[in-house]
Amino acid sequence: MALDQGLFIALLNPSLSAVLSAAFFVLWTVRRQAGYVLQLCLCYCLVAIGFVLQGFQLGLGFELSKLVSNLLFFTAVFLFVSAVVSRQKLPVPRAALLVCAAAGMSAFTWFLFVVPDFGARVFAVNYALGAMCAVGVFRLRQSTSVAPADRLLTWLAGLRALDFFIRPAVVALLDGGGAGDASFVGSSYWLTTSLSVVVWSLMIALTLLTAVGFDIIQEFRTESHTDALSGLLNRRGFHDRTRAFFDLPAGSKVPVGLVLADLDHFKAVNDRHGHAAGDAVITAFARLLRQTGSDKAIIGRTGGEEFAVFMPHCDLGAARLFAEGVRAALGSGALEGTVPGLGPVTCSFGVAARSGGESLDALFKRADDALMQAKRAGRDRVRVTYVRSETDLEADAAGMLRGA
Ligand code: GH3
Ligand code: MG
Ligand code: MG
Repeated sequence: MALDQGLFIALLNPSLSAVLSAAFFVLWTVRRQAGYVLQLCLCYCLVAIGFVLQGFQLGLGFELSKLVSNLLFFTAVFLFVSAVVSRQKLPVPRAALLVCAAAGMSAFTWFLFVVPDFGARVFAVNYALGAMCAVGVFRLRQSTSVAPADRLLTWLAGLRALDFFIRPAVVALLDGGGAGDASFVGSSYWLTTSLSVVVWSLMIALTLLTAVGFDIIQEFRTESHTDALSGLLNRRGFHDRTRAFFDLPAGSKVPVGLVLADLDHFKAVNDRHGHAAGDAVITAFARLLRQTGSDKAIIGRTGGEEFAVFMPHCDLGAARLFAEGVRAALGSGALEGTVPGLGPVTCSFGVAARSGGESLDALFKRADDALMQAKRAGRDRVRVTYVRSETDLEADAAGMLRGA
C-alpha cells in the first residue's frame, strides 16, 4: 500500500507536467508568434523530467540525479518567469534571475558534495527559486495590462514565491529538521513538495491557458472587425464600435459628428489604372483620413470606396472642418504620387451632427442624404445636413399660414 502511494506520488507530477507541456505545445502550434507559449511548453517538460529523476534516478545515481533534476527545476522556473514577463511585453530580468539560479545551484552543490546536508539543500533550492519568482513579480508590477488573467498571474507568482519561502521552514519545524537523505522520497518535505507542485502547476497553467485562449479570441475579433486592405475598421467593426458608444449612458449627452466620404468616379480610376492601382488609392485615402482625424475619431471603410468617420465630442462645425480639410488635402495633390500618372482624385462628403437623442441609424441616414446631395451637385464638395429646431419648424408653419 505504502509502495503504491509512493509510486502514485512519484508519477503524479511527471504525468501532470507532461500533459500541461503538451497542451502548451498544441497552443503554440496555432499561435507561433507567441514564443513565450513555447517557453511554457519547455518549462513543464523540464519539470516532468526533473520529477522523473527525483523519483526514479534513471541509473544516474543519487548525487547526479539530484544535481540534474535541480538544474532542470531552476531552468524551468527561469523559463516560467521569462514567459510570463515577456507575455506582458516587459524586458526579462535575465541577470537577476541568473544570479539567483547560480547562487541556489552553487549552495545546493556545496551541500550535496562538500558538506552533505539535506536540510541545507532544501533551503538553498527553495529560497533561490522563491527569489526568482519574487524577481518576476517585481517586474510584473510594471505591467499596464488590466486583463484579469494577467493580474491573477502576478498574484499566483507572488504566492508561489511565498510558498517557496515559507513551506520548507514550516515542514522543518513540524518534522524536527526533516527526514534524512535515505528516506527522501517518503519524507514530509517531499510529500508536501509533490502535492504543492501539483496544485501550483495546475493553477498557474490553467490561468495561462485561459489567458492565451482569450488572446486568440481577441485576435479573431479584431480580425473580423478590420478591413484587410486599408487597416481601418470594416463595416461591422465600425457599427459595433459606434453603437457601443451610443449604448453608454453618458454617450447620449455627448455631441457627435459623422462624416461620410465617397471617392468620385472611382470606377474610372480602376478602368484607367487597374484594380491594384485602385487598391493603392483606397489605402492612401484611408491613411489621409487617419492623419487628418483626431485620435478619438472612429474611422471605417464601410464599402468599396466609401468611408465613415465618427467624431465623438465634435459638433457640426468641427465635423465639417474635418471634411473640408480632407477635401483640401486631396485638392493639393495628397494622393497623386500614389500611382504613376494618377490625375487628381476627388471625393464627396456628407456631414451630420447628432440632434438630441437621435439614433446612429437616423444620423447615418441624414449624413448619407447629404452625401447624395454632394454627388448630385457635381461631386468634389462637402454637404452638411441641419436638423431644424422646433422653433424653426413653428416659424415655417406660421409663415406658410400667413402666405396662405
Ligand atoms: P461616384 O462618383 O458616383 O461615386 O462614382 P464611382 O465610380 O466612384 O461609383 P460606383 O459606385 O459606380 O463605383 C464604385 C467603384 O469602386 C466600383 C468598383 O470597381 C470600385 N471598387 C469597389 N471596391 C473596390 C476595391 O476594393 N478595390 C478597387 N480597386 N476598386 C473597388
Ligand atoms: Mg460608392
Ligand atoms: Mg464613388
